[in-house]
Amino acid sequence: MAIKIRLKADAYTVGLIYVKPLEMHAITAMLDEHHEAVPMRLGDDNEYTLGKIGYHNVAIVGPPRGAQGKVAIANVVGRICLAFKNIRVGLLVGIGGGVPHLPESDVRLGDVVVGAPEVGPAVVQYDFGKQLPDGVEVTRTLNKPPELLLKVVDKVEDRYQRASEGTEDFFVKHLRRFAEFPRMGDRYKRPSIPDRLFRAEYDHPEGTFCSTHDHLQEVKRPDRDRPHEVRIHYSTILSGDLVMKSGLMRDQISAKHHNAVCFEMEAAGLMDVFPCLVIRGICDYSDSHKSKEWQEYAAAVAAAYAREILLTMAKRVLHELEDPEIVGVRGAPQAAGQDSSRRGEDIARDSNYRPRASSSAKKSILSLDGGGIRGYSSLMILERLMGEIKKTLGLATAPLPCQYFDIIGGAGTGGYIAAESFLNLYQRS
Ligand SMILES: [Zn+2]
Repeated sequence: MAIKIRLKADAYTVGLIYVKPLEMHAITAMLDEHHEAVPMRLGDDNEYTLGKIGYHNVAIVGPPRGAQGKVAIANVVGRICLAFKNIRVGLLVGIGGGVPHLPESDVRLGDVVVGAPEVGPAVVQYDFGKQLPDGVEVTRTLNKPPELLLKVVDKVEDRYQRASEGTEDFFVKHLRRFAEFPRMGDRYKRPSIPDRLFRAEYDHPEGTFCSTHDHLQEVKRPDRDRPHEVRIHYSTILSGDLVMKSGLMRDQISAKHHNAVCFEMEAAGLMDVFPCLVIRGICDYSDSHKSKEWQEYAAAVAAAYAREILLTMAKRVLHELEDPEIVGVRGAPQAAGQDSSRRGEDIARDSNYRPRASSSAKKSILSLDGGGIRGYSSLMILERLMGEIKKTLGLATAPLPCQYFDIIGGAGTGGYIAAESFLNLYQRS
């Protein structure tokens, strides 16, 4: 029977936002744990999928089926921080249209684009501003992605670049998770349909299939050394309300905005309400040849990248009881002539044990374990340990264990007797 995990709303620190159901499925496939729902305020119409990736408890949410664009997304994310007050960072994870600029930005289907301030901002709302004869002059500047996430992006990139020959790439590892789900496995695989990029001015002729287009209309690109490798691009992401389906307009708008390599429709609705890192798997080339065949795989690579970000980001501690200082004292039956009292100092030295400062909010747990039946060695070790704590904290007298530790437990006969002995001592003093 699966264990049911139910956490309080304030245990969640990361929001993962999707737009399409196919993106949600890709994200949930990346969860290490699934959690029970937490009760929501009446009137909050969001439905969250809760779980854990690495050290981070995550809340996954998106607009209702069929809704897309920045208004739909702003309605959803505006309520996240009300429901989960400790959610500090978000990732917008899903699919987008690519804009290849050859040879410098050779974006291909199944690559990942991360919205990052490179030459321009991370996200530009390209259709908002003043209408001039030659197009829109953008007048709005959007918030940056959270600094923490941009630092994690660098850590992920650093590791990715330094990967030695033969090490498994994290995309391969995370994408393997789909094989566990028989209904998803096939759909989320890399499609066998060839990745064809057509000349910007060649529009898709009505009533034809892209597979029948003349090869002369195709932009020739060199084969990649590793044809199935997922490449990561860092670029401005172009966000607007229109579904971009024109090669010429795509190139024109991108040229005006730092040669951005990705179009999508939601990031602009998000950045000022809930700053996010935008992660887009490329499923088409934002032109009239748009089709759906690559969507699931593109959502899968974006979700795999998001998982790697969360696995790389260090744990963030919320509560005093998380990540406590744990000190174990283990007594043992004494052999003749053995001085177990020295072991209190050994604990301090061997484990680099440093007593916490008395002002620290961190909780301390003492675990007494006794191999014997008298608890004598545990008590002796404990006495020495308290002496070390006294020295480190510069106190006049050694504190009683119950003055220093927040939780004390005993295991084994010796440990139990030791714990009880000093409890008696405490009651007397
Ligand atoms: Zn076509």
